[in-house]
Amino acid sequence: MFEAAEADAPGQDMHRLITQLYPICRSITGDGLRTTLRIIQEVIPLKIQEVPSGTKVFDWIVPKEWNIRDAFIKNSKGKRVVDFQKSNLHVVSYSQPISAIMSLDDLKPHLFSDPQHPDWVPYRTSYYNEMWGFCLSHRALEALGEDRYEVRIDSSLTDGALSYGECVIPGAVDDEVLISCHVCHPSLCNDNLSGIAVATELARRLVRLRLHYTYRFIFIPGTIGAITWLARNEERLPSIKHGLVAANLGDPGHMHYKRSRRGSAEIDRVVEHVLRRQGEDFTVIDFSPYGYDERQFCSPGINLPVGSLTRTPYDQLREYHSSADNLDLVRASFLAHSLETYWAVIQVLERNRRYLNLQPKCEPQLGRRGLYDLIGGRTDKRQREMALLWVLNLSDGDHCLLDIAERSGLDFQVVADAAAALMRCDLLTPVRDKSAKAEVDNPVVGWRSLTLAER
Ligand code: ZN
Repeated sequence: MFEAAEADAPGQDMHRLITQLYPICRSITGDGLRTTLRIIQEVIPLKIQEVPSGTKVFDWIVPKEWNIRDAFIKNSKGKRVVDFQKSNLHVVSYSQPISAIMSLDDLKPHLFSDPQHPDWVPYRTSYYNEMWGFCLSHRALEALGEDRYEVRIDSSLTDGALSYGECVIPGAVDDEVLISCHVCHPSLCNDNLSGIAVATELARRLVRLRLHYTYRFIFIPGTIGAITWLARNEERLPSIKHGLVAANLGDPGHMHYKRSRRGSAEIDRVVEHVLRRQGEDFTVIDFSPYGYDERQFCSPGINLPVGSLTRTPYDQLREYHSSADNLDLVRASFLAHSLETYWAVIQVLERNRRYLNLQPKCEPQLGRRGLYDLIGGRTDKRQREMALLWVLNLSDGDHCLLDIAERSGLDFQVVADAAAALMRCDLLTPVRDKSAKAEVDNPVVGWRSLTLAER
């Protein structure tokens, strides 16, 4: 779809954004999260929302705001043997403040390591229990001898707010496509900076286009952010027609799609069609109530058509939630490939409609209408002819273009080009969708701009 050199540029932009965001100590609330949202705001029009601590959101309460300035464990010689300034993973997220001198035995219950990967620092959180702790490599833990250690965590847990970011790109209709990513992890790249980078780049691309759907990108802290957003936007939910949770998009693994709870929503079918047509390895799995924020979007009382499109799922990623999920793991080329997969999904969503053949009695005479010249040169004559015949035959108001693409074995874009050409010859008319008043005004223009931007 894109020349290699063109595809590289967004990959490098995304990797640069990840590099810029990497050092920031984020959590589910606090200044690190705010700083991250402000950096994204430099790239796309993002509205930052603040929800006060203590706000009730469904069965949850927005927690106190956590901020941290410094943390360390010093030995009796005054040397920092664990140092937050070297990596923010060293402190358990949401640790309470502490300032004490203690023996190794008293310190040990507060130290966390991963013996399976003795050089990696694990990532731990304690959002909803009051505790404090440090994470360190297993090698560093084993090197600690008997001593009097000075332990300091200069953090605060105070009434403040939970921050999240929202970027809305208006389309011809109010129906929405929701793209969600979590923004609450500290120095971890694939989970979750890659999702942030791909969502940001995608929004930047869509801002320049004339679109059918309205696109809503939300940058939210995991779990509590999704619950907060859903609780504050309940009246908007019927407008959300399709959605994806973006995460783990920079690692070398192939694409994975986790279906929505509905299982055969349009988004499920569109993503599967795109992955099949890419001609590369991919995996599709059914919904399960675990994982990222699809857990909230697909809870039974919400039940949105939202799937999750990732590369390696978190539970199969060796480096998951450790210091090995770093700037070397995520690559510009994988980010670019993920972006193009999302882009391909959006191109199908934008053009997928139902039509009615206006000459359904026998085949209309195609030759005299100059139809073949109306279809772009990306396909051969035979494919174009087949696409025209399939679209005419199945445009009975019941089949959408994706149905026709799947039934005919043709690429979706070839089928959609055929439909656009037939529209221009007055052989086809869109089936009016009651919610889409604006679309009938000039449906071809919306698609055309998207098609042109792609070339
Ligand atoms: Zn995570």
